[in-house]
This record gives sequence, C-alpha cells and structure tokens, in this order.
Amino acid sequence: MRTAKDTKDVGHYIGGAHLLEADAPRQAIYDPATGESARSVVLGGAREVDLAVEAARSAWRGWAAMPSLRRARVLDEFRRLMNERREVLARVISSEHGKTHEDALGEVTRGIEVLEFAFGAPHLLKGDYSEGVGGGVDAYSVRQPLGVVAGITPFNFPCMVPMWMYPMALACGNCFILKPSERDPSASLLMAEWLSEAGVPPGVFGVVQGGRDVVEALLSHEGVSAISFVGSTPVARHIYATGARHGKRVQALGGAKNHMVILPDADLDMVTNALMGSAFGSAGERCMAISVAVPVGEALADALVERLVSRIGDLRVGPASDGASEMGPLVTAEHLSRVRGYIEAGVSEGASLVVDGREFRQTLQGYEGGYYLGGSLFDRVTPEMSIYRDEIFGPVLGVVRRDSYEEALSLIRGHPQANGVAIFTRDGDAASAFARDVEVGMVGVNVPIPVPMAFHSFGGWKGSLFGDHHVYGEEGVRFYTRLKAVTMRWPRGQREDPEFVMPTLG
Ligand code: NAD
Repeated sequence: MRTAKDTKDVGHYIGGAHLLEADAPRQAIYDPATGESARSVVLGGAREVDLAVEAARSAWRGWAAMPSLRRARVLDEFRRLMNERREVLARVISSEHGKTHEDALGEVTRGIEVLEFAFGAPHLLKGDYSEGVGGGVDAYSVRQPLGVVAGITPFNFPCMVPMWMYPMALACGNCFILKPSERDPSASLLMAEWLSEAGVPPGVFGVVQGGRDVVEALLSHEGVSAISFVGSTPVARHIYATGARHGKRVQALGGAKNHMVILPDADLDMVTNALMGSAFGSAGERCMAISVAVPVGEALADALVERLVSRIGDLRVGPASDGASEMGPLVTAEHLSRVRGYIEAGVSEGASLVVDGREFRQTLQGYEGGYYLGGSLFDRVTPEMSIYRDEIFGPVLGVVRRDSYEEALSLIRGHPQANGVAIFTRDGDAASAFARDVEVGMVGVNVPIPVPMAFHSFGGWKGSLFGDHHVYGEEGVRFYTRLKAVTMRWPRGQREDPEFVMPTLG
C-alpha cells in the first residue's frame, strides 16, 4: 500500500488509507490542454468494492450513532480545509478536465455551498411528534440513515457533482463510497484525504476507481443500500433499472438538451451574453449548458445570429494556464472527435453551419496536441436532426427558429430530455406562464443556467432523471434517510387483556 504522494498514479482510498496495487490494470489520464499523459488511474473491480463496503460497514454504526451536531462540526472542519485549499483543487481539476481556473474555482464553491447546507442536518433530521393519539399513546417519526450508499459521477464536475451527494449522505449518518470518472479522478483523492484530516473516521468515506466493473459490483452488492448516479441518459437508465432490480434506492440523473426561448421583447445584448456563457463556458460540457436557442420571430432570429457570429469569432479558446482563456479544450481526444462528428452530421443533415469551430487552430507553443475546438453555431436546425435530438456535450449551439411562443413551448415538450430551460423576456405574464407550463425540472427566467442553490434541490424531468428524488437540499435528506414511525404507550398499572381485533380509537 502506498500513499498518493509517493506515486504519480491515482489509486483507491479505502478504510482511511490509499490503496494502489502494483499489478492492477490502469488507464492513462490525459491533460486535455496538451494531449499528454503523465499519470494513470487504477481500474478496480469487485474485490476493491468488497473492501470498501466492508470498511464502510464496520465504520457505519459508530458514525450513525455520533450526535448529528458533531458530524456537522467534522464537516465544518472539512469546509475550512476546502476553502483554504480551493486553489490547489481547482488546478488539479483543470489539469485533467481542461476547464479554466476560474471555472474550476466556481465548481469548488458550488460544492462547498452544499456542505454549508448539510451543516443543518440536525434540524433537517428532526422528526414529528404527536401526543395522545390514543389513550396514553404518543407517536413520533424520525429519519434514520440508510447505511452504506454509493455515488457514481461524471467527468464534467469532478468536485461539485460528488459534493451534490456525499455532504448530505455523511451529514445524515451514512457511509459513502465514491466511484468518480476515470477521466479526471484526482480530485476524489484530495477530497478523501481532507475528509480524513477533518476527522471523518476511516471507512466512512471511500473511493473506488475504475469504470463499468466497479459500477456493476456496486449495483449488485448487498451491503450497498442506495446509489446516486449522475451521467449520460443511457447509463442512467441502466443504473436505475439494475439498482432497483437489486432492491436499492436509486436516483439516476441523466443527460440534457437545454433550450433558451427568446421572445421579441428581450434585451438582445443580455441574451447574447447569456448564450455565449451558457453555450460555450466549460466548452459546453455542462449538463445545464444551453445548446438550443429558440428565437421567436424571423427578425429577432436574424439579429441574434448576426450578434452571435461576431461574438463567437472573439471567443478566446486556450489552456487553463492562460488566464485570458474563456473556453478550454474538450476532455479527451475521443470526445473531441465525437463532437466533430456531430458538426459533420449537422452539415449533412442540412443545417446551416454559420460558424465552424473546426477551423480553430491552437497557436500557443507547447499546446498543439491539446483537444481544442472553437465555438460552432448552426442556424435553421430542425427537430428531426441528430444535432437537435442528441446531447452533443460540446461547444456547439443550434438555433431553431419558431414563429410563436406556443410553437417554442411545444418544441420543448417534444424533446425527451428535460433538465434545464430558460426564457428571456421583459413580459412578466409570459415568463410566469412559461415557468408554470414548461415540462422541465429547472427553469430560468432571464437566467441562462438555473442551477438551484444548495437549499433547493437539483434535478431534471423525463430522460434527465430516473428515480423519485432530486439531489441535495431537502430532497437529499429524504433520499439518504428512511422514515421510522414509533407508537409508544406507558401502561399505568391497568390490566392488559389480549386484543384480537385491529386497534382503533373506537
Ligand atoms: P457517462 O455516463 O459516460 O459516465 C458517468 C459515470 O458512469 C462514470 O463514472 C463512468 O465511469 C460510468 N459509466 C460509463 N459508462 C458506463 C456503463 N456502460 N456502465 C456502467 N457505468 C458506466 O457520463 P460522462 O461522459 O462522464 O459525463 C457526461 C454526461 O453526464 C452528460 O450526458 C451530462 O449531461 C451528464 N451530466 C448530467 C448531470 C445532471 O445533473 N443531470 C450533471 C452532470 C453531467
């Protein structure tokens, strides 16, 4: 067993210690800015999952029995460490994901906000009490932790998405096993080390690295009570079905295709800025990215496209190490070629490619091998095209022109994904009607990326979420706890005859 500090490779974190088997299979980790690989991640399987579950199960009773306020204090110390070291964490994220430093810092901050909400667990776990529900009978209900729960997370937010899960799970008294993305796994180990340093007992938080083998082992392990998943829709659907078949509680968040409806009265400068940030920030690799703009009316569409063309031309694409970069590279060479494939598909399906991001060439010395792509803009996209139906997850914005608000609403209704959506308008009536009628989980009014704050909950509808609970906020408490109802009587010396009928108040 070696620590992460004396090796360049990324291993597991089990029972409060690093585990890096010399003979384990490995997968290279690339720096998307250069295309070079200096490290690998070990790929675990059923054996490592067994070890992590065993360590978690032995730690669970003690952690669950700890007063909730004390657990909150341990997490508060972890927050202090996260705040102190956020720069370090952000740099590690950028070096494996490719996003700009400021963007990486932003995801760390949003993760810390969930921690701050989790400190309220002592209040959120309070039950209900009813006095005198029968003769000398009181009743109360409490929420108790599930046991060992697992989180399986995507590459695009290696810190924030795990933090949508584990602060709530731990604060509620569960042990948590994280299976991060194999593309950018290092953030998971830093968080694991810092949780231990903050006082989280060994086994309460574990990390098992790997891919499908680890996921399948977690899904079928009888020691795991619940699975939280965030990733693409086909995998989310599989996780939900398989986890449920094994009797687990599952929340599986899937992919997205987020629309922005722009009404003719909207402030066009504001709309253009909002679209630039939400479509091209983080190279479009966000589940809340806007990938479809729906201007209402031809004149508005023409004006919007004209502005976007000029702004995309000015987009500064480059490595995270260059403070001037507004958009970094894509995460892997494979993903870059997938996104390029969609640009080709859009052209052959008949959409109008107004700006072609494939023409972008990285000129910074030393970064020629990075996975860069400029921003792309398609106009006159139609609903049957693959670039409209599929989640591209890259810096590609499509414009679908519509003649009326009703047509825009019905377009959104017809899409199988329903994670986030936005409307830009000055008309309060239209905005209220939209917020009420649109069939999407998270809605922004003049807000392009409406990621709910930590005290609300995050989740989409339709193909963007399988399961009954959204993540974090009060939904997180419900997901990571089970309800117990206690009915209590203290006999006061009277004789107790057997009762053979269903007890009623009479
Ligand atoms: P992904 O589905 O490829 O991978 C997610 C996780 O599942 C990873 O840990 C991966 O190792 C594992 N996995 C991949 N294929 C698997 C398989 N066949 N069987 C079992 N496990 C498997 O997703 P990604 O490419 O890492 O992330 C991007 C996707 O995540 C996008 O679709 C994006 O919209 C989605 N996402 C959704 C949200 C949300 O809140 N709805 C948030 C972030 C990302």
